[in-house]
Amino acid sequence: MNTAVDMVSLSAPVKNFVSKPRQALIDGRWQDARSGETFDVFNPANESVIARVADCKRADVDLAVAAARKAFDKGPWPRMSPSARGRILWKIGDLILENLEELAQLESLNNGKPIAVARGADVPLAADLFHYMAGWATKIEGNSLSLSVPYTPDAQYHAYTRKEPIGVVAQIIPWNFPLLMAAWKLGPVLTAGCTVVLKPAEETPLSALRLAQLCLDAGLPPGVLNVLTGFGETCGAPLAAHSQVDKVAFTGSTEVGKLIVKAAANDLKKVTLELGGKSPNIVLDDADLDVAIPGAASAIFFNHGQCCCAGSRLFVQEKSYDRVLEGISKAARSIRLGPGLNPQSEMGPLVSKTQFDRVTGFLRSGKEEGARTVCGGKRYGETGYFVEPTVLDGTSDKMRVYQEEIFGPVVTVMPFKEVDDELIRRANDTVYGLAAGLWTSNIKRAHRIANQLRAGTVWVNCYNIFDASMPFGGYKQSGWGREMGSEVLKNYLETKSVCMSI
Ligand code: ADP
Repeated sequence: MNTAVDMVSLSAPVKNFVSKPRQALIDGRWQDARSGETFDVFNPANESVIARVADCKRADVDLAVAAARKAFDKGPWPRMSPSARGRILWKIGDLILENLEELAQLESLNNGKPIAVARGADVPLAADLFHYMAGWATKIEGNSLSLSVPYTPDAQYHAYTRKEPIGVVAQIIPWNFPLLMAAWKLGPVLTAGCTVVLKPAEETPLSALRLAQLCLDAGLPPGVLNVLTGFGETCGAPLAAHSQVDKVAFTGSTEVGKLIVKAAANDLKKVTLELGGKSPNIVLDDADLDVAIPGAASAIFFNHGQCCCAGSRLFVQEKSYDRVLEGISKAARSIRLGPGLNPQSEMGPLVSKTQFDRVTGFLRSGKEEGARTVCGGKRYGETGYFVEPTVLDGTSDKMRVYQEEIFGPVVTVMPFKEVDDELIRRANDTVYGLAAGLWTSNIKRAHRIANQLRAGTVWVNCYNIFDASMPFGGYKQSGWGREMGSEVLKNYLETKSVCMSI
């Protein structure tokens, strides 16, 4: 384990930020929870308390939704010129970049991810999402329509569609990319002219609170963005079920996604969901293994495997099997584990005790069901939620480690003989359909296989490439709707047809 001596020392703004209990943002004002209660936020690298935040519950949900409702029904945001709205979004992106180091440190401290990843990926991607979306604010367009109404043959009409903001949106996000998931959600919802109540995950609320202040600093009017810190059942559930919410956008586990649908069903709120995955990653014999092996390692071990799109089922064609198994195991063994704030660390701890118990439970189940642990397979160190990067071989498609989303640094490696329908069947043989990877130098095969994989994203000779312009989301039980790209705006817009007799 790396020692504390080498740690990045927290900057003054970060120390200041965590030194006092953080309040919720409601109607443009930072406020305590109605109950006055707070809860602790932990550093997953050493299990110590790093901050306290407001423990928001139903009473706070009522206030935040009322503020968002008022801001939508009467406030300036939905009525502002698209250009003015776009400038505020752009400014949020700029402020994220200006505060990059502070946000990166908060993210690494609270989530456990390596500081270099937070600095190089999470924070710049969050800024880029706002910059990308800022451009869309002025490009939300309807169509003009040519009607041929059979029962009024002599009439003439001027008909067109308008795209209007959907209203008050509840957004509930997870802990694996706390700032980036907030950006993915807030960028488009604000661009569309909606107002929001955002609930970050209870494990990782800090960067979303800091982002909310940056949104205010950029000129977002009061009540447009409200942020409630709280737990799933006591804050998320009443938010998802609230009668004054028009739409719920959720990212998290498939299990909770189903609860969200039920909560929203009562008054038929619109719902979009970005859920779990068990993504196949396929290495063909004709692949460049010098690229495919590190690529497959990064596909599963990036962010400690805590990615909904992690390449957790690795299929390798027979001739290359031994080399890939050995290569990915070597890569796993060479990953330096340690606190995210140590710049030497390449993999940090899992985010929480719950997550640690879940992943180590899967490792036990794999052993019991007869999988062979080629490397890793256990806890690393004695404090913090570290788990060794793990490679399992000899798994069957009936095992839990093969079927269920582990959300940790654990890959199952399976051989296959031919590139045929059976390979595609096995790759698609999961309830999920979020992402897939393919490694080959044969372009024809690449296209054919990509077309047959039932997944929202297919990466060929690369993995985990994200861009604000590229839609991301799932087939099957991986979700409803897409994040990012122009596609995501559909989540937050209603289409109105206007028909005039002329
Ligand atoms: P994980 O299992 O990976 O922790 P979850 O799906 O439980 O992910 O959590 C994602 C988000 O959903 C978090 O913000 C969490 O508080 C919230 N959440 C959990 N349970 C509920 C629920 N019943 N209703 C609404 N939100 C919930």
